Amino acid sequence: MNRDYPLEKVRNFGIIAHIDAGKTTCSERILFYTGSQHKIGEVHEGETTTDWMEQERERGITITSAAITCFWTKTGEKDKKDTAKKNRFNIIDTPGHIDFTAEVQRSMRVLDGAIVVFDGVSGVEPQSETNWRYADDAAVPRLCFINKLDRTGASFERSYASILDRLSPKAIRMQIPIGEEGAHEGSVDLLTMKAYTFVGNMGEEVVEGEIPANLLEDAKKYRAELIERIVEQDDAAMGAYLDGKEPSLEELKAILRKAVINNEIFPVFTGSALKNKGVQLVLDAVVDLLPSPVDLKPVTGINPKTGEPVERHASDDEPFCALAFKLQTDPFVGALTFFRVYSGTLTAGSYVYNSTTGGKERVGRIVRLQADKREEVAQVFTGEIAAAVGLKDTKTSHTLCDEANPIILEQIKFPEPVVSLRIEPKTKADQEKMGIALRKLSDEDPTFRIKTDEETGETIISGMGELHLEILVERMKREFNVVADVGKPQVAYRETILGSAEAEGKYIKQTGGRGQYGHVKIKMKKMEPVDPDKKVSKNITREDHFEFINNIKGGVIPQEFIAPVEKGIREAMSRGFLAGFPMVDISVDLYDGSFHDVDSSEIAFKIAASMAFQEAASKAKAVILEPIMKVDVIVPEQFMGDITGNLSGKRGQIEGMEERGQNKIVHAKVPLSEMFGYTTTLRSMTEGRGSMTMEFDHYDTVPNNIATDIIASRK
Ligand code: GDP
Repeated sequence: MNRDYPLEKVRNFGIIAHIDAGKTTCSERILFYTGSQHKIGEVHEGETTTDWMEQERERGITITSAAITCFWTKTGEKDKKDTAKKNRFNIIDTPGHIDFTAEVQRSMRVLDGAIVVFDGVSGVEPQSETNWRYADDAAVPRLCFINKLDRTGASFERSYASILDRLSPKAIRMQIPIGEEGAHEGSVDLLTMKAYTFVGNMGEEVVEGEIPANLLEDAKKYRAELIERIVEQDDAAMGAYLDGKEPSLEELKAILRKAVINNEIFPVFTGSALKNKGVQLVLDAVVDLLPSPVDLKPVTGINPKTGEPVERHASDDEPFCALAFKLQTDPFVGALTFFRVYSGTLTAGSYVYNSTTGGKERVGRIVRLQADKREEVAQVFTGEIAAAVGLKDTKTSHTLCDEANPIILEQIKFPEPVVSLRIEPKTKADQEKMGIALRKLSDEDPTFRIKTDEETGETIISGMGELHLEILVERMKREFNVVADVGKPQVAYRETILGSAEAEGKYIKQTGGRGQYGHVKIKMKKMEPVDPDKKVSKNITREDHFEFINNIKGGVIPQEFIAPVEKGIREAMSRGFLAGFPMVDISVDLYDGSFHDVDSSEIAFKIAASMAFQEAASKAKAVILEPIMKVDVIVPEQFMGDITGNLSGKRGQIEGMEERGQNKIVHAKVPLSEMFGYTTTLRSMTEGRGSMTMEFDHYDTVPNNIATDIIASRK
């Protein structure tokens, strides 16, 4: 079988936006213009995310789907009826809300470029900055789209200035608008010096015309700026330009394309998705300026057999490798595993090797989601995104590859969940349904965790923030019909040790017949941060927050009892020492012990290990850790004093302040425990004029007096 699209015509990209900037509307317009959706869904004011998800489901296909495939022929090439002009777009979903930054980070890994959407009234908002930083970290090439130019109060120039000022001086105008607010009609393309307006019910007809006279001066001025910025990227072009020779349009486009792919230029476009203006020109720019898989550097990973670094180029002829990036349930097809192919091809019905788990799985069917249908495909090729049906043990971030040429791609790193709450099912039937629901939801979302409290038997779920858990609980209730009582959100504290200690654990019972005998000696210390590239020797188990070193010599503890010792220690860690919170960052060295020929058993060693652990923890300065959040508060100047005072009273560290137009922005680090309900406080302190964003920053030791209260409250 051969690929139906040349690799150069594939674009994998996402739409990144702060909430309300118009991502949904833009996505729907894109699906409409690419011909895959004939009805435009309306997004109404004031609907919550969850309502919206239900609405999506009713429509059958979702634009919250992890990836949607559609096809685009550039404006002006449409009537050529030449399928070779068609480009394949895989649009990867990125969520807008800050509580879902993990999702944004995850999607950054698999997209090759992005359209960043801004609200033309408010310009850059704090959340755009957070998302921009994630895109910077992943070096994702970006096009900016200043949307909502029809709104009262919209200003292209002001929004553009906010991008330059707050996001990057590498942004540059590609267009200027024709009219703003009620008078908004279209845009002028500065490269070609043509005006574009949009005719028809849905603006489906793009009309090219002359630049209106009142805009000509501006257009010339900004075009000169744009051309200069482009030629700066290329010495030869710069030389010619200085000699008075402007490069041809084709040359300019080629230089610009390279600069965009290398993150040297961020082109800025504008329009109004709602009023059907401008979206098609951005799609043309996706083709012209964003990279195809062949434009990218080869992916790198580790050969799990040798530990050596290996590379894969974007080519169908290389061995297969792909990254699973999202698990999602589709109402018609069932459980889907979305994956991005970096090299080689995969055929439906074949077996695939999961190098992360070391297991093999059969790929039953492979589907591609389009806006109005699910297309079953026999084979997927390099650079494509598709979903496999029937994978059981493949989770988000696992690598799938050719068994003969194994590679493990860099795992997607997820932040740790910091908020938890208890849920109690109403009846036994609910208990069962809840188990299934939570497992499914946590399979889909790696930042959502489930745990059972060993003492009370209650279920505790944890996630990235109050809203994150609220939405998951909502879904559990509605999609799985679970009736349950839900507790208040709590901080996900942890425990660790600051010192080191040695301890001995003996579990010996000799009462006639067969007794019990387990005996271990351990050293415990704070674990050093893990270097992921360092090879680990065979006697060490090393994870992000736990290390176990087996230093037993001469069989003083027989090999079969080593694993039970490690298990006993893990269990003791998960039970906590001070207040029942899981312990992290501990290194345990098992260096001595003894055994009894008849009485020793796995259970005896497990208990002995847990006793030794308890004793060592009591001597190693155990402390409680709490999540510290990075908080940005934006308020009118007159409220500054009150806000900083209030944050300081919450054990917050004020890290800086900035001007933000008419407003001030306060940067602070504040313990999460002090921040519950802060949005309400902020509203009442600022007459509703303040806003904030918050994300996890790090874990830090809880001060003594507060630790005492936490411990007392857990007794
Ligand atoms: P999202 O939260 O980023 O997905 O944003 P939506 O697409 O849901 O849009 C948020 C609100 O802004 C909705 O009420 C849209 O109808 C509205 N909206 C989106 N694009 C435009 C636009 O270009 N102009 C105007 N006036 N409103 C828009």
